[in-house]
Amino acid sequence: MDSGLQLEMNFELGINRFRNCLDNGVFSLLIETNAPALDTELDHAVSRLAELDKAAAAVSAFLVGLAITDKFPYSNSWSVIDFIRKLPAERRDRHVIYLSGMGTTLQEQLNTAKICAGEGFLNVVPVSGSIQPGDGERDVRKRNYVESVNVLDILRREPVRQLFPGCVVNPFKYTRGSSFSQYYKLIRKLNLGASFMVTQLGWDIAKLQELRWYLSWRGLYYPSLARLCMLTPERVEDVLRGHVPGILIPESFRRVLVSESRFSLNQFEAAQWRRLQLCVAGCKMLGFSGVQIAGIDTPEKLNVAVRRISAALSEFDNFPQWMAAYREHLGQLDMSPYPYSFYVFDKLLAQPFPIQESPKMRHSGEAVVGRWEKFGYGLREFMFSQAHEQAPNERIALKKLLAGCRGCSVCRLPMTMYMCPEKCPKGMANGPCGGTRPNGDCELAGQGECVHLKIARTAVWRNEVDLLEEGCLAQSPRFEKK
Ligand code: SF4
Repeated sequence: MDSGLQLEMNFELGINRFRNCLDNGVFSLLIETNAPALDTELDHAVSRLAELDKAAAAVSAFLVGLAITDKFPYSNSWSVIDFIRKLPAERRDRHVIYLSGMGTTLQEQLNTAKICAGEGFLNVVPVSGSIQPGDGERDVRKRNYVESVNVLDILRREPVRQLFPGCVVNPFKYTRGSSFSQYYKLIRKLNLGASFMVTQLGWDIAKLQELRWYLSWRGLYYPSLARLCMLTPERVEDVLRGHVPGILIPESFRRVLVSESRFSLNQFEAAQWRRLQLCVAGCKMLGFSGVQIAGIDTPEKLNVAVRRISAALSEFDNFPQWMAAYREHLGQLDMSPYPYSFYVFDKLLAQPFPIQESPKMRHSGEAVVGRWEKFGYGLREFMFSQAHEQAPNERIALKKLLAGCRGCSVCRLPMTMYMCPEKCPKGMANGPCGGTRPNGDCELAGQGECVHLKIARTAVWRNEVDLLEEGCLAQSPRFEKK
């Protein structure tokens, strides 16, 4: 982090154009760009960013800003603050800055958020950070991942003037447990002060509608942006090789992309632009406040994207018209990762609004917890119901045996269905990250079911789901353990 920037600086602009657009239902476009890798010359990357910013500012059809990611897709990138600090002060309120919790501390995240606000970058989205390709358990466990929930919590308790924090959500989950766990965690983030949300990247428009319906069913009318991508043959390869964390291309879609890539590059690009147009228009029809698009890395491509998106937004007047075009182009594709295909609602993509539709909810009679799990829960509850008020190492041997305790500096067992959240290799305590696999396993190979899905299953059985949506559990920082 650059200590040369002054925390106290404040441009007193009094406006936040990105926020104004969300508040007033004006559709926005964010162009995603990543803080450059450390082996890239920073000045060169900064000047390319400035060109994108200038091209974005020249668009009059709608608000175009930049979504600038941090330590993504790889951890060895320049500090996001160093990357953005030369952008013109008068346009910084258009942009959204992601703050990765990977390899940092809660205090550092708070300081970075203060620097952002002081410098006029008012829109920030804390994220926990991803497991890196090739990581083993030891690599992940020795890294600190500051959970976005904890950053939102500290921003709520120590508000930073004018800061407008958002959060991310991954609706592209295809088992009952992993879908609802993502939504429980989303609600926790909204309860802690996130004012808008951006989805993980995905192509399944039914899942995007599911998110909108779920929010509406819960009465949570928060603005949401959908993250989309302009694919190139190289990017398809990257995703298929698992080099872009948390992003899934189902088999049927993969086959389409492979067949499209057999034609000329022009034809491949034309197919991707049409798909992107249909997705953007669909997002607007479904009530999204905007889209964030990855894969647009030059002013020329930005201008093409703006033209295509403008055309798409004026092409369709109503949902049935868009739906017909979407079905013609993409409707035969099964976007779920076989054999996992759970959707929270039944009539997705059949109607624009969830009329008389309620979710396939938690109390559906499905046996979510087995007999031995119930027995284990009863035993742990009997042994550890006061554990959060005792010294963390009290009954440590029993905690290790029964609850998977890993020796945290603060015991949270009574708030996590008596399962140690440190079983999560990233140390997430407040719910699953976005990276769970299609079957609900941890994104890190060999870890079995994500501990937060087990916690959620138990909470559903105990009828204590509120525990997963409210408050904030402290993390047990790894740097302190050393
Ligand atoms: S246990 Fe769950 S939350 Fe933790 S890294 Fe694995 S998938 Fe993510």
